[in-house]
Amino acid sequence: MIAFHGDTCVPVELCRLLSQTIPEEHHIPVVFHNRRTTYQSRGCRGSYNGHQIDIYLNQIFSSSDLARGDDADELGWSLGSWSTKSWFALLWVCYHEFGHVATEDNCDDVSMDTYRKRGREFKYVENLANDWTRRRLLELRDHDKRLGQPRVMTGLFGARLFRCMRWIEDRVRRNSSHFPKKFVEGEIGATMSYIKERRCQKTGGQLYAGDVLTALGLDPHRFPNAYKALKRVSTGLGIDYTDRAGRNHKLYTWGDIPIARSRLNDLYRSGAWLPREVSSGTPLPFEHQPDYYAEDGLVA
Ligand SMILES: [Zn+2]
Repeated sequence: MIAFHGDTCVPVELCRLLSQTIPEEHHIPVVFHNRRTTYQSRGCRGSYNGHQIDIYLNQIFSSSDLARGDDADELGWSLGSWSTKSWFALLWVCYHEFGHVATEDNCDDVSMDTYRKRGREFKYVENLANDWTRRRLLELRDHDKRLGQPRVMTGLFGARLFRCMRWIEDRVRRNSSHFPKKFVEGEIGATMSYIKERRCQKTGGQLYAGDVLTALGLDPHRFPNAYKALKRVSTGLGIDYTDRAGRNHKLYTWGDIPIARSRLNDLYRSGAWLPREVSSGTPLPFEHQPDYYAEDGLVA
C-alpha cells in the first residue's frame, strides 16, 4: 500500500487506483498539497525528492483549467468535460512522478546540476517518466474505458468545479433575458463547458465528438467532414443522449478512441472517406495523423 498524506483533498478513487496500478517496488509516500502558496517552484505540479512524492493540487488545477500543457504529450489535458480534464491532469502528474521513481536507475549519470539546466539531460529524464506514464495510461484504458474517473469529482477539484458550476448558473439566471446575445465570448465558452460537464455527469460520458477527433489528430476545425465519418463508425460506440429539446448527442469515453481510430482507418482504406481540409479542400492521408494514445510503439 502507498502511504498518502493530505488525501482528503483528492477523490478516494485516485489513491485506490494508484495503490492498485503502481508496481509495489515503487511504492513511496505521496503528499497532496492544497495551499495556493505551497509548491517547489512556480508552475511545478509535482516533484520527487528521492524519498517521497509531492503533488501540488492548485498548480494542476490551474494548468488543466488553462486547457493545455506546454507539451503535446499532455494533449489529454485539453480534452473532454472539466471533470475529465481535471482527472486526466491529476492522473498524469501522479503517474509522471512515479515514472521518475520507476526510471531513476536509468538516470544515474545525470547530475542534479545538469538536470536543473533544463537541457538535453533534463529532456532525457522527463521523457523516461513521460513514456512510463503513457504506458500506465494505456494499460489502464484497456481495463477501464473511463481511466478510473469517478462519476462525481470530490476533494479540492470537486469543490472548485462545484463553485465554477454555481457561478455560471448564477450568471445565466441573472442574464437570462439576454442570453446568449449579450454574453461576451469567454462567457459563451464557459457556458458551453458547463453544458458539456452536465451532459457528461448525467451520462457517464467524458468526451464530445470533437475531442475524439482531436485525440486522433483530426482537428475538427480543419477537417469538418471528419464529424460525419465519426458518426458513421460510431454504431455501438459511446453513449447516446437526448437533451430536453429532443436533440440527439453522442458522448464518448477514453476507451472509445482506439476503436474509433481503427474503424476510421478501415473507412479510409476502403476509399469511402478522405479527411478534407476546410481551406484548401485537399484530401489528406489519415493514417499518418498522430495519435498520442494509440498503441503504436508504446505497448509491446
Ligand atoms: Zn518530471
